[in-house]
Amino acid sequence: MTEVLVLVEHTDGEVKKVTSELLTLARRLGEPSAVFIGSGFDAAKATLAQFGAAKVYVAEDAEISSYLVAPTAEVLAKIMKDSDTASSGGPAAVLIASGAEGKEIAARLALKTGSGVLTDATDVADEGGSVTAEQQVFGGSTVVRSTVTTGTPIITVRPNSVAAEAADGAAEKVDVSLELSDAAKGAKITDRVVEEKGERPELSEAAIVVSGGRGVGSGENFSVIEALADALGAAVGASRAATDAGWYPHQHQVGQTGKTVSPQLYVAAGISGAIQHRAGMQTSKTIVAINKDPEAPIFELVDFGVVGDLHQVVPALTEMVKARKG
Ligand SMILES: Cc1cc2nc3c(=O)[nH]c(=O)nc-3n(C[C@H](O)[C@H](O)[C@H](O)COP(=O)(O)OP(=O)(O)OC[C@H]3O[C@@H](n4cnc5c(N)ncnc54)[C@H](O)[C@@H]3O)c2cc1C
Repeated sequence: MTEVLVLVEHTDGEVKKVTSELLTLARRLGEPSAVFIGSGFDAAKATLAQFGAAKVYVAEDAEISSYLVAPTAEVLAKIMKDSDTASSGGPAAVLIASGAEGKEIAARLALKTGSGVLTDATDVADEGGSVTAEQQVFGGSTVVRSTVTTGTPIITVRPNSVAAEAADGAAEKVDVSLELSDAAKGAKITDRVVEEKGERPELSEAAIVVSGGRGVGSGENFSVIEALADALGAAVGASRAATDAGWYPHQHQVGQTGKTVSPQLYVAAGISGAIQHRAGMQTSKTIVAINKDPEAPIFELVDFGVVGDLHQVVPALTEMVKARKG
């Protein structure tokens, strides 16, 4: 079976959920081989095996982790060149999580290997031996299926696009060593600061997101949104109107110029549903909106809508969620 490379996202060996999702997708295309860069492989191995990684290419050299994304692209390019499948045209595909870093790695890798790149996929499939990626375009109003015609398909996939499904894999370790090029050492990491984000899940990985917009009314009022998010175990998002007003930090902005989320449940409170906001959340599996204007465009795409004042509806919802959870 043809190999499919999956770049592992992790923090010191703690594997991020999106990697299990990518391994699940990779199994549709061939035999998944994970690519683990950095320290902590021993901690990561069980999770990678649990989601079907047959092999894990491991580049643990501390030097690789000292620089930004360029070394990762070099490691991936080397694996593509050296792997067992190289003689038969290389891996069937390379899957990378769709974040700012992932997209940069994908672009660099595509350039190094003369391959085509597809970003922000929400699904992948093997159609008669050709790998296709599904993408939502024009603010999510149109779904397209694309395939690359040159080299190996390098595809970045949005987190939460698929439910991760376990499957046994051997996660056999294959050591990778690499002499980094001078070009890859251009941008060095000088310090790492752990983001203070409390107990809430990371926005682009969260299974549930509760977002507030201009209708929330003020920064202080965002406590209403946070309370519902905490009751649901959700991340907090915000519209650009809310972040531009300084009511919530910009890193929580969802939309075209913010983060793209694709959770199982997206709750939009006091958000009108502008096309630029939709672009970042339209692929959410279930969408709930609370808005006092029955004509608000957000109601065009919801699975469940509540016409009402969020300052009444959201606290009542929070109490109900807490009561259900006991
Ligand atoms: C190039 C470009 C990029 C952009 N990128 C983004 C982006 O990434 N993300 C983004 O979000 N926007 C983005 N925008 C801005 C976008 O066009 C909208 O202006 C923005 O999304 C509006 O935010 P909002 O829905 O919170 O505010 P509004 O459009 O003002 O809507 C507020 C809503 O709250 C409702 N409301 C008011 N009070 C209450 C209440 N008490 N209870 C219930 N409902 C209430 C109102 O009925 C209304 O529907 C971008 C714009 C441009 C031009």
